[in-house]
Amino acid sequence: MFRRVYLDNSATTPVDQEVVGAMLPFLTEKFGNASSIHFFGQEARAAVERARHQVAEIINARPTEIVFTSGGTEANNLAIRGLVEANEKYGKHIITSQIEHSAVKEVCQDLEKRGCEVTYLPVYEDGIVRIEDIKNAIREDTILISIMTANNEIGTIQPVEEIGKLVRAEKAGGKKIWFHTDAVQAIGKTEIDVEEIGCDMLSMSAHKLYAPKGVGALYVRRGVRLHAQNIGGRQERERRGGTESVPHIVAMGKACELAKNNLNETNERLKNLRDKFEQTIGENISDFEFNGDREKRLPHISNLSFRFVEGESLLINLDLQGVAVSTGSACSSGSLEPSPVIRALGKNDEMARGAIRFSFGKDNTAEDVEYVLEVLPKAIENLRKLSPIYSNKVLC
Ligand SMILES: *Cc1c(COP(=O)(O)O)cnc(C)c1O
Repeated sequence: MFRRVYLDNSATTPVDQEVVGAMLPFLTEKFGNASSIHFFGQEARAAVERARHQVAEIINARPTEIVFTSGGTEANNLAIRGLVEANEKYGKHIITSQIEHSAVKEVCQDLEKRGCEVTYLPVYEDGIVRIEDIKNAIREDTILISIMTANNEIGTIQPVEEIGKLVRAEKAGGKKIWFHTDAVQAIGKTEIDVEEIGCDMLSMSAHKLYAPKGVGALYVRRGVRLHAQNIGGRQERERRGGTESVPHIVAMGKACELAKNNLNETNERLKNLRDKFEQTIGENISDFEFNGDREKRLPHISNLSFRFVEGESLLINLDLQGVAVSTGSACSSGSLEPSPVIRALGKNDEMARGAIRFSFGKDNTAEDVEYVLEVLPKAIENLRKLSPIYSNKVLC
């Protein structure tokens, strides 16, 4: 019997049945435009505002501070570009980390071409930025710090509360500086409270949280000025023009409500699955390393590098046996680039190329993990047999 095990929940998650149930009427009879004045419009508006409440609640924000977007990528674009454009008179320096998602990294790189200066902070072997480094990087003209809440490849949690404190202290001293955090991977996996973090903006995405792709949100603290990136409509308090996708927004609201209610229970279960997985690997496979700090990390991600194994080959080998995982490698101009996140941990090319991310989700069972633990050691052994370096090691 062919089994399929999905261990790529950091890439996307299956849509929850309850979420589907909540959004369906808004694809059929409740089809109104939330900006229309008549009954159909009001029905849609009420649904959007209910969802805004649900989204605000999972991060302890006010509903008016939530701007719906098409996803995490757009939320990051709106946060960074929007803030820089609205506040460039105060400075053009941005501080970020070397392990941000491409939706932060590439926006920063693009802004560099437009006259901004960006400091990309190191994360050391544990995959965590140092507050001291941030302090030292702040300049007269620094207007934005964008550091993710938790990393999507290795799961490491960044000291966002300390960064928030630092930024608040700078503000109290009269400095114009803002703090954005990409929390796409962290929402629903750990308690997120924008008051505790003290951030000005926070990005979210629905499809990492058992809702459909194509919807997300940006939290924008009251009083923070942003230059809209989507112009041509007055929706979302003129921060994001375009007719709201009511079914998607309703789905995101429902997903946030469910995630909030089940946070501890789900994550305890995921963590147990993950820890069992890691422990068994430790007992059965040699020559591997964990990537990133094992304490300060999200409960659902395990990132490992197997020596003498190409991550991409292992991914394909596992896929043939029904197991879906991912590598952080990106195909660029025909060759496989090792993951910049793993490289930022100071690992060499071989270890970076051998990195594999297993990301667990609420639908995974103990049997799923058992199956993976059955096929993974064999897959690695087979690949190592093909590796000339590994054969040498065995002979020597
Ligand atoms: C998935 C992801 C994004 C992008 O979100 P989309 O909704 O897919 O555009 C951004 N940041 C992180 C950390 C992510 O994991």
